[in-house]
Amino acid sequence: AINCEPLKDLVRTVPDFPKPGILFYDITTLLKDKAGFAQMIDALAAHYIGKDVDLILGIEARGFIFGPAMAYRLNAGFVPVRKPKKLPAPTAKVTYDLEYGSDSLEIHLDAIEPGQRVVIVDDLLATGGTMQATVQLVKQLGGEIAGLAFAVELDFLRGRQKFAEYDVFSLLHYS
Ligand code: 5GP
Repeated sequence: AINCEPLKDLVRTVPDFPKPGILFYDITTLLKDKAGFAQMIDALAAHYIGKDVDLILGIEARGFIFGPAMAYRLNAGFVPVRKPKKLPAPTAKVTYDLEYGSDSLEIHLDAIEPGQRVVIVDDLLATGGTMQATVQLVKQLGGEIAGLAFAVELDFLRGRQKFAEYDVFSLLHYS
């Protein structure tokens, strides 16, 4: 396997974004690096080769960066999971709690056929609330969860504990 540790040097940390006291992990500095981007997509996709993945689901917005590239590599379809009122056809909707208030995500009702094997992708795993909501959507549509993928995982937030029954794969870990 390729050593992905050096990719961590391409992730920039920005203090006090989007609010005072938050340290934001900025992946745009990794995305613009041509070797780094290719290595990241290859390594993320490699984890699912031979696992019969039908669909990659990307969570708006940064899941839309990684998902389609992985889907292309894996010969899978891509499905967008979107913020409310963006999708034109009938949707399933899930609402989840944030630190202050709540947020919602939607998916087209016909996006997943029952039994299709799905990998859900986002850029970063923090508390896991966003991914947990998306897992609910996939279950509602009868999809089978083949895995949960992230470019970055913040290990110290223990988000992975929410997904004990699933294969959680993150490329870069921060403690
Ligand atoms: P969670 O729901 O796991 O607490 O938060 C993860 C979601 O918030 C992801 O959709 C991710 O894009 C976003 N997010 C939270 N913190 C960060 C961060 O430091 N960097 C990036 N790139 N995204 C973050």
